Amino acid sequence: MHLKSLTLKGFKSFASATTLRFEPGITCVVGPNGSGKSNVLDALRWVMGTQGAKDLRGGKMEDVIFAGTSGRAPLGRAEVTLTIDNSDGALPIDYVEVSITRRMFREGATEYEINGNSCRLMDIQELLSDSGIGREMHVIVGQGQLSAILESKPEERRAFVEEAAGVLKHRKRKEKALRK
Ligand code: ATP
Ligand code: MG
Repeated sequence: MHLKSLTLKGFKSFASATTLRFEPGITCVVGPNGSGKSNVLDALRWVMGTQGAKDLRGGKMEDVIFAGTSGRAPLGRAEVTLTIDNSDGALPIDYVEVSITRRMFREGATEYEINGNSCRLMDIQELLSDSGIGREMHVIVGQGQLSAILESKPEERRAFVEEAAGVLKHRKRKEKALRK
């Protein structure tokens, strides 16, 4: 499984539709300060279901929508589509290529799609949860996150490892069952 492409439309600084294609292996995004490199990573987090505006370096979720520049009016919606190569069947769905879309309108409505069919956020989280791209998004290590891990308490650090290994959800379920 690998990420094939990412299309941003009205997302943060990407007012016009922009598609980035990824080959298997390492991809580097280079550019001057403020050119939108981190916005690309924010788009990845967002399309995979992140709910916290702070994770996306904004104050509120609406801040992901292109806010306008001196020469260009603000837009009414943001849309990101991530296409994943699933030819090895790593994602539990019968498609060799899977596209996930998230769309948000300035009025607040949000839509999610898997291969063009509308779905719930939960469906996307479930689709990705066993793939190693879990919902907590620790596969994307942001600026400052590394020091947060290094400075965390042992229990917190254990949760990072468990999330990466895919056992955290089982432990949470067990704890919940024991409380009953
Ligand atoms: P650095 O090298 O400093 O880390 P970067 O390439 O990571 O820079 P980003 O943080 O991705 O840069 O982009 C910041 C730019 O995105 C800023 O110019 C900011 O104004 C713009 N931006 C962020 N949100 C929006 C928005 N909603 N609408 C329009 N532009 C936005
Ligand atoms: Mg940056």
